[in-house]
Amino acid sequence: MNVRLFVRCLAGVFLAAVAAACSNESAQPQQSTSARPQAQSVPAARIDASTILDRIKVLSSDEYEGRAPGTTGEDLTVRYLEEQFKKLGLKPGNTDSTYIQNVPLVGITASNTQPLTIAKGAAKQTFKWSDEVVAWTKHVAPSASIKDSDVIFAGYGVVAPEFNWNDFKDVDVKGKTIIVLVNDPQIPDPADPAKLDPKTFNGSAMTYYGRWTYKFEEGARKGAAAILIVHETGPAGYPFSVVQGNLREKFDLVTPDKNMGRAAIEGWITLDAAKQILRMGGEDFDALKKQALTREFRPVPLNLKASMGLSNKMRTLDSRNVVAKLEGSDQSLKDEYVVYTAHWDHLGIGAPVNGDKIYNGALDNASGVSQLLEIARAFTQAQPQPKRSILFVMVTAEEQGLLGSQYYSVTPIYPLAKTLANINIDGINQWGRTKDITVIGMGASDLDDYLREAAAQQGRTLRPDPEPEKGFYYRSDHFNFAKQGVPALYTDVGVEFVGKPAEYSKQKRDEYTNKDYHAPSDEVKPDWDLAGAVEDAQLLYAVGYRVANADKFPEWKPGNEFRAKREEMLK
Ligand SMILES: [Zn+2]
Repeated sequence: MNVRLFVRCLAGVFLAAVAAACSNESAQPQQSTSARPQAQSVPAARIDASTILDRIKVLSSDEYEGRAPGTTGEDLTVRYLEEQFKKLGLKPGNTDSTYIQNVPLVGITASNTQPLTIAKGAAKQTFKWSDEVVAWTKHVAPSASIKDSDVIFAGYGVVAPEFNWNDFKDVDVKGKTIIVLVNDPQIPDPADPAKLDPKTFNGSAMTYYGRWTYKFEEGARKGAAAILIVHETGPAGYPFSVVQGNLREKFDLVTPDKNMGRAAIEGWITLDAAKQILRMGGEDFDALKKQALTREFRPVPLNLKASMGLSNKMRTLDSRNVVAKLEGSDQSLKDEYVVYTAHWDHLGIGAPVNGDKIYNGALDNASGVSQLLEIARAFTQAQPQPKRSILFVMVTAEEQGLLGSQYYSVTPIYPLAKTLANINIDGINQWGRTKDITVIGMGASDLDDYLREAAAQQGRTLRPDPEPEKGFYYRSDHFNFAKQGVPALYTDVGVEFVGKPAEYSKQKRDEYTNKDYHAPSDEVKPDWDLAGAVEDAQLLYAVGYRVANADKFPEWKPGNEFRAKREEMLK
């Protein structure tokens, strides 16, 4: 679960303008004419709060050691989930008749054997590891390095055909070291320069092109040897100290090419380091940054050579996604799937806080797993049974970089072209009933229409993510499905709590963020009230049920960055 600092719309209800900007109505995406949810009845789902709570208590108990991949905690968790699936009468989700999809992981701890050195002829400048440069490699190899690699400034490092944007043009960066800016290009709105252009990179909302993971992927596609992102606190959304967290062991999937298709070196440099490097190349950072905000931008060769060396400490381990299936009731549709996900892993045992070293992860994400098991139970009892099959995937290694869901989405058990949707749960509402439900990335796909209709039947409304600039849509497991083209839905706790003052939501959320998020104290609390989680479970169940019975596949909305990929897949 990702912490969101809660500057919720409610804070502004007194200002008519703000209230209008925040209201659900004004934020509704245009209705798609292609795949409106059909009016159809969904069998009622009995969801039991005490069962959810009991499961959370088991999974977040000290015995489970905080459920880190590759530990006794994993063994216990996997066994528990298999048992629960069997008890519910769900079939093994894998085609080998097991409930297991193995996820091969590699843990790499990089150390710096040769610092980043930039040379201009005989003149050389060396940059300090960790203080000025944080880098790693995804290569599953004992070492990685660059030597006398040409340095090029590549703007935002973005290729986005739907925005008619290509920072690389025809410039070959193969084997070179590229320096790129963080976030997506912040283009002023021609109608109002105080705002960002909603038509280019979705205004202030972050697109995937703004995520740092994207920069490394695009750079690798272009064949760059090293990709260095310039860290700026504002556009990154966090200080350099957060980047330095990348120096601890990093997990990754083991791909058939041992990740040799990635750049040899991926990393970050401080803003100061970037300015110095550009100055050595006879360029000015601010001037280049300005150029980079135009479609005419071309990569700028700096006439510099970069060298750097890393040495890797590696270990491999097999972790597991736990998968169960409810077979569809319609012979002609049962080979099509709705996939639910919730990550079972958490941080394991770590640095003690107040004498407690077990990071129990009760909310993050024992709660989502437990809620999803209740949704699974509701599906097994639904009469009539859904026409298409429902897959329940409890994924591993979310906390290590969404790896379990990545593995499923690139090595799916059932074809993604036959997968209608992903519905992901990461954290549940433990603070009571709400009148609304938050949709992260609202307006992305037809799934919002399904959700809106189901919510209306509960007398509830949808609320857009109040902080779209932080790119939360790209930060939990559903994103891996989206990236491959599968429409994905990710909701969060609502804001308007029934019978509670307006500030209640922010207060509870801040409490969690400050005290319990990724801390050993993320444990079951005596005051938890899962009545809201019950309603949310019924909602997410209803969406999945409707999609499973619909006449059409849900689609991405026009203009969405994943739409082209889906269309390609379904051709
Ligand atoms: Zn989580």
